[in-house]
Amino acid sequence: MDKQFIVSYQIGETLYLNITNRCLNKCAFCIRETPTGIGYNLWLNKEPTAQEVLAAIKEPTMFKEIVFCGYGEPLSRLDVVKEVAKSLKETGAKSIRVNTNGQANRYYGYNVVPELVGLVDTISISLNAQNAATYTEICKPADGENSYYAMLEFARKCVGTIPRVILSVVEWPGVDVEACSIIAQDLGAEFRQRKLTV
Ligand code: SF4
Repeated sequence: MDKQFIVSYQIGETLYLNITNRCLNKCAFCIRETPTGIGYNLWLNKEPTAQEVLAAIKEPTMFKEIVFCGYGEPLSRLDVVKEVAKSLKETGAKSIRVNTNGQANRYYGYNVVPELVGLVDTISISLNAQNAATYTEICKPADGENSYYAMLEFARKCVGTIPRVILSVVEWPGVDVEACSIIAQDLGAEFRQRKLTV
């Protein structure tokens, strides 16, 4: 598929921001792996600067939520997330969410969660599996099973620091949804089960 420069796209009352195509995982159900994605071509011909992201958000206050999401891992561009979120907050954006694979602390080598305080209202972390072996099989993380434990530790750091923390799973063969919901509960996070829709 040709690469384009779609930095923001709207679904319902939510605006999604597509700031990178990079990710250390290769999940079996990733929309990047499907021929049609979500209907938009989100393959970027270059990664947008913070200014280019902000330019792609015409009226931040009109959305219920603005979500850093995209065809990749948004926190692989932590500085851009922080700069854009700060500016959106200043202009009155109602709510800001980051969808993440939860591996930022491992990626950067320190706890980045405090840097998101006051900028991010909700963090949705892809739990995806009830144990490291299943996670590795489904998500094929670059760092193997350590990535699963890093994701759980990241979630622990978020709970109590970021106002709303969600752990999510996609219904997929081998995923024990009930066991995943207990992990979320034990961590003090909300739980979201998603059906694969593409
Ligand atoms: S973590 Fe998200 S962006 Fe990365 S491969 Fe999995 S589904 Fe795709």
